[in-house]
Amino acid sequence: MTQYEIAVIPGDGIGTEVVEAAMAVLKHCETSRGIDLNYTFHDFSADLYRRTGRRMTEADMDEIGKADAVLFGAMGLPDVRDANGLELGAQVDMRAHYGLFSSLRPVRLHAGVHSPVKADHIDMLVIRETSEGMFAGLSDFHEPSDDEASDRMTITRRTCEKLFGVAFDQARARHTRGTPGHVTLLHKSNALRSNVLMEKVFDEVAAENPDVATAKLYIDAGSMLMVTEPERFDVVVTENIFGDIVSEIAAGLVGGLGVAPSADISRERGVFQPSHGSAPDIAGKGIANPIAMILSAAMMLQWIGEKNDDGRCLSAARDIDDAVESTLASGPLARDLGGTASTQEVVDAVIGALPR
Ligand code: ATP
Repeated sequence: MTQYEIAVIPGDGIGTEVVEAAMAVLKHCETSRGIDLNYTFHDFSADLYRRTGRRMTEADMDEIGKADAVLFGAMGLPDVRDANGLELGAQVDMRAHYGLFSSLRPVRLHAGVHSPVKADHIDMLVIRETSEGMFAGLSDFHEPSDDEASDRMTITRRTCEKLFGVAFDQARARHTRGTPGHVTLLHKSNALRSNVLMEKVFDEVAAENPDVATAKLYIDAGSMLMVTEPERFDVVVTENIFGDIVSEIAAGLVGGLGVAPSADISRERGVFQPSHGSAPDIAGKGIANPIAMILSAAMMLQWIGEKNDDGRCLSAARDIDDAVESTLASGPLARDLGGTASTQEVVDAVIGALPR
């Protein structure tokens, strides 16, 4: 039996709580599906930085990157900032270090969960580009000034080709599971030069994938349609900051951040974490919704399974998705979904719904 190495970074706030929850679910799957996962723990957090000045270095990321996958809770606290005044976290650094150019953020409206919009069926995958776009200039030289500051949006053909390749592959893979199998590009090519190139490359990649239907919308109109007609979207692909924003709009349609998983991936590497942050307002109370992290763990098993052609991991991923679906349908629900359940009660319910 292949043993997979999992690097675990619990991080800050509810990150530690939801990672523990997801690991309990994974442990159950290891037994039920005969999977062998070996965990190494890496204690990096904004809190550690505040107490000791120690932060994740390139050497740490090299070490962590030896694992088959990274399971990441959440990192960052509002009052812990670096020299540029930006919140200290490791997500952006890991994306750059590992060349993780796409963040997969699936959202699905489950039975038992209330949506703030009128829609019977919401099932979409937002793919956010994560290595350039509006975050391209984060390491640029910057003269501190109280009068002027700027950021840089850069789009490259190379990254677009890879990103859109992922989008079309995902549309095809989702189609086999019953979705319409089409890709929508959200862009702003009427106002941004970088987005003219993004649209051009999208058209080229679309022409190479004639079996997959496509649509293109301006990011402003697309954001509105996501709320008014969410059923029209399947795979949605977009630039870094647009994706940051629309993935949270999409999460809001299906119950919020507590049920929104994510996977930052390249062809070789994957970091799996919930879409939410460390949520200091509810940390330590045992009430965080663990579903987003549990679904991120399922995405990790899916990714490992596909990469290694390992049917047991794929089956375990499906088991977790099904167990989450039935838990959300019948309860108990965590407080962010209008229920009263603690983190532990939700985890127990998910584990109870898994095959023995
Ligand atoms: P970041 O910028 O690091 O992504 P954020 O500032 O967007 O973080 P979050 O930490 O994601 O903030 O929290 C936003 C709100 O959503 C908070 O009120 C938080 O309590 C709530 N929230 C986030 N995740 C969960 C969860 N798993 N369960 C319940 N509530 C959550």
